[in-house]
Amino acid sequence: MSAKDYQKDYYKALGVPKTATAAEIKKSYRELARKYHPDANKGSTDAEERFKEITEAYNVLSDEKQRKEYDEARSMFGGFRTPSRPGAGGTTFDLGDLFGQGEGLGDVLGGIFRNRQGGAASRARRGADVETETTLSFGDAIDGATVTLRLTGEGPCPVCGGTGAKSGTVPKVCPDCHGTGQQARNLGGFGLSEPCKTCRGRGLVVEDPCPSCSGSGRAMSSRTIQARIPAGVADGQRIRIPARGAPGEHGGKAGDLYVRVHVKPHGVFGRSGENLTVTVPVTITELALGAEIKVPTHRGPAVTVRIPAGTPSGQVFRVPGRGVRRKDGTLGALLATVEVSVPQDLNKNSKAKSALEDLRIATAGADPREELLRKARQE
Ligand SMILES: [Zn+2]
Ligand SMILES: [Zn+2]
Repeated sequence: MSAKDYQKDYYKALGVPKTATAAEIKKSYRELARKYHPDANKGSTDAEERFKEITEAYNVLSDEKQRKEYDEARSMFGGFRTPSRPGAGGTTFDLGDLFGQGEGLGDVLGGIFRNRQGGAASRARRGADVETETTLSFGDAIDGATVTLRLTGEGPCPVCGGTGAKSGTVPKVCPDCHGTGQQARNLGGFGLSEPCKTCRGRGLVVEDPCPSCSGSGRAMSSRTIQARIPAGVADGQRIRIPARGAPGEHGGKAGDLYVRVHVKPHGVFGRSGENLTVTVPVTITELALGAEIKVPTHRGPAVTVRIPAGTPSGQVFRVPGRGVRRKDGTLGALLATVEVSVPQDLNKNSKAKSALEDLRIATAGADPREELLRKARQE
């Protein structure tokens, strides 16, 4: 038995009080074993883990000597409870840390904690993190979207449902370790434990292996999942979706899913963090004389922006509330850049052409490059 074993509540696992008689323990085990036996729960790893758990509990509690040892160890561990912050109840040391390596207190307390290190709980393995990518439209990136992702990875074999057993057969509880997956070995008085050779630590043995997965119960497969991409995601951003990666083994947690998001560019709007950007053409007279112009917004009606007289080309106007939704629900701004649109074919509009020629004459004395040239000479 290892320290970890003493942390498990075998009475709770069997649903009996600590004062239960041997007959009560046996009765409860039989009922639970029938309910969770792999024969009755083909392919359910949860039932498989539960079955091993109750079998392990029964193995200890049905043995008078082991039960006594277990009870003593459990009551001793009560003494390791330490008072902590006021009102916080108490904290329990991780006894696995104290005894697991067979040093310090573990040596003092002797070999009773040394046997069968590990057990089902320590074999629990977290699933791997999985990375994938998806491409969103410009609008979906701003609004958030639910996307369908196709993931390829190792999962339960579809032929045998993950049991590893040939169709029509089921795995049996390992006769050598009684489902614990661990075997004790005696080395010169030291009780060691190692994964059971018969079942390779699984606690179950397959007599007739599934031809598709050769009994491993695992296979490469692809699955599709729906994932929610939050509003306001930027091109190239990586989104973490907890517990949607590869499934865990032996009751371990699933890994995380990371989704690299690509955002398609928009024909009109750009993104600058939480703000949207747009370039708006204006005439020279609108900038010079002032004007009210219509500016398009993303997925909304155009808004009117007032251009003061004498506005330079390239000036940015900020339209609040028309940008990207932030995490707190508020909206960024639309940044509208005005850019002079120069008339291309004035020969078709002689009136405009002569008006511009009049403007040239009227402004002949003002050279817009005068200051630039002067500054350049000074530097
Ligand atoms: Zn299979
Ligand atoms: Zn075994």
